Amino acid sequence: MPVRFARHSEVDVLIIGAGPAGLMCANALANARVNVRIVDQRAFKITAGYGDGISPRTIELLQSYGLAERLLKECSQIHLAAFYNPSSTGGIELTKRTSNITAPSARYPFEAALHQGAIQDIFLDSMSSLGVEVERSTMPTSIELSKNEDELTDPTSYPVRVVLQRLDQSEDEQEEIVHAKFVIGGDGAHSWTRKQFDITMDGEQSDAIWGVVDFVPDTDFPDIRNKCLAQSNYGSMFLLPREEDRVRAYVQLEDRDVINPVTGRVDKDRMGPEEILQTAQKSLKPYKLTRKSEFLWWTIYSVGQRVASKFSIKNRIFVAGDACHTHSPKAGKRPKFSPFPGLVTMELPGQGMNASINDSHNLAWKVAQVIRGWADMSLLSTYESERRKFALELIAFDKMWSTLVCEKPLTEQNSDGVSSEHVLKTFQTDFTSGIGIHYHPSVVVNDTYQELASGLVLGKRVPPYKFMRAADGRPFELQDLLPSDSLFKLLVFTGEFSDPLQQARVESMVADLQKPQSFLNRYATPGDSRFDVITISKDRKDKFDFLQLPTLLRSHWSKAFVDDTDPTGSFGGEGYSYFGVGSEGALVAVRPDGYVGAIAPLDRAEVLDAYFASFMKIPA
Ligand SMILES: Cc1cc2nc3c(=O)[nH]c(=O)nc-3n(C[C@H](O)[C@H](O)[C@H](O)COP(=O)(O)OP(=O)(O)OC[C@H]3O[C@@H](n4cnc5c(N)ncnc54)[C@H](O)[C@@H]3O)c2cc1C
Repeated sequence: MPVRFARHSEVDVLIIGAGPAGLMCANALANARVNVRIVDQRAFKITAGYGDGISPRTIELLQSYGLAERLLKECSQIHLAAFYNPSSTGGIELTKRTSNITAPSARYPFEAALHQGAIQDIFLDSMSSLGVEVERSTMPTSIELSKNEDELTDPTSYPVRVVLQRLDQSEDEQEEIVHAKFVIGGDGAHSWTRKQFDITMDGEQSDAIWGVVDFVPDTDFPDIRNKCLAQSNYGSMFLLPREEDRVRAYVQLEDRDVINPVTGRVDKDRMGPEEILQTAQKSLKPYKLTRKSEFLWWTIYSVGQRVASKFSIKNRIFVAGDACHTHSPKAGKRPKFSPFPGLVTMELPGQGMNASINDSHNLAWKVAQVIRGWADMSLLSTYESERRKFALELIAFDKMWSTLVCEKPLTEQNSDGVSSEHVLKTFQTDFTSGIGIHYHPSVVVNDTYQELASGLVLGKRVPPYKFMRAADGRPFELQDLLPSDSLFKLLVFTGEFSDPLQQARVESMVADLQKPQSFLNRYATPGDSRFDVITISKDRKDKFDFLQLPTLLRSHWSKAFVDDTDPTGSFGGEGYSYFGVGSEGALVAVRPDGYVGAIAPLDRAEVLDAYFASFMKIPA
């Protein structure tokens, strides 16, 4: 019998699973020039179905990788939500039409609806342009983590050993042993990676079962191009406009119609897309809803609200996305009473895919910094502390929401009831849009000097605002000056530089930043900067000479901005007050993922020295 030798290889990061979590991570790491591989057991990429609602914050972060333009071109934008309830004549009638997203600081104040296959294609094409392809028909068969503490704490070591099996190759070429510095399991709700380390999922299974169909409708329903939640006497449904002329219908199903009495599990053979559409048709009466196309995709599913007990093993193996948290994509519990009787299920707009993409956005820059030798391994612990907390908050909000819609409505007879305005207000918080994500104090989030920039909240993402480039008066969106490029950004709000007193303060601050012990020098990596300094002065574009700024504050002519109106006078000019920065100015450190990390007064640059010293490493 011939002896078979498995091929051995080394890689910095191995990603298992090419869904939104895995692809986002692979793309972000490829952007950061990290040596990354991504494998998926599926032979082909998905082309339809699954998640389809991208939240305002996720659009912002895709923009930070240069990926939003394509999404916005291909998606359907959902600006309005409509609520329908039973009418006196037995059908449904419009109760309220309102904005789908109310997050005043959202740069994109709408939801972008596009099928998950198309969203994944955006990542796949971007990765491909960076030389990274998904290795398909490939799955791990075993994973081992070294127990040697020296190896585990040495960021240059390869302590994870994964055996990969190729399903599409001849037997003697099937096996490969990969030695990885880090492994990321983005392998979905039934995560193999999670199970190998006995990570438990805590939470409960939702009691709602949904039938989902994607099709092109033929209808006289006036809200077919808005997100719509309807409850009729026949049950509840939910319509979502999609790219081109498509729509998705979610229909809440009765257990008896879809549960196999023997196994107690959802049985897809008991109901098909035609029956799901028929149920939707009944709920939408008196309006007509038929299809002009074949069914483009359909499913029946029920998911839990669960969070993994750990998101990492020794900061070497991580789980991200559905592998560490699952949410009922559209459903809460079935309420007995509702302020909007139609509101059985009022959803948090599609949190599964959004949470997955945001997990990877949070994790990728930290892994990249550690691999480059720029940050201490301890930085990686903030992935679990930040993202697990978010997942728990999301589920708590989901439950609170479900409970709220189960309360009796406020009426003359029931003064303790909940008003429809209260329900709507709760739904329309900036939490549901992803804008409200707030990371608590840690080594990468300071908790001092918030008062110097009250609109740049420590632990929250930098909100959008337009400033004028000092050299040529061109308006720039601040978020576009903070791309996800692995660099920390230092926003220097100089105050009014043309005021001689303030100028002296700024010059003294620059002298501090130029000292050898300043973080800018301490962590300088020749030829590969870790910081980008952006200056925003409270001066007028027609008077300000940006060449007067010390050179540290204008490393390139494109790095200096003024808080003034655009050349036509249409917008801008109130950035300091919007961000709560006073005339004394402020220093603001922004993390590579766009979240505010630290704030300091101009004359206390050592606050930032201490901030960076808590996780950064001096170049070897
Ligand atoms: C019907 C439906 C509707 C949904 N609607 C929405 C919505 O509107 N909005 C929203 O945000 N979310 C929605 N979701 C949820 C969304 O699809 C998921 O949250 C999202 O896909 C999670 O991304 P992920 O990358 O974590 O996992 P997945 O997308 O599940 O990807 C995991 C990948 O890992 C691969 N894999 C698994 N095991 C292995 C293994 N052992 N080896 C190699 N590869 C492996 C799989 O083939 C898959 O490609 C919906 C889900 C469903 C089913």
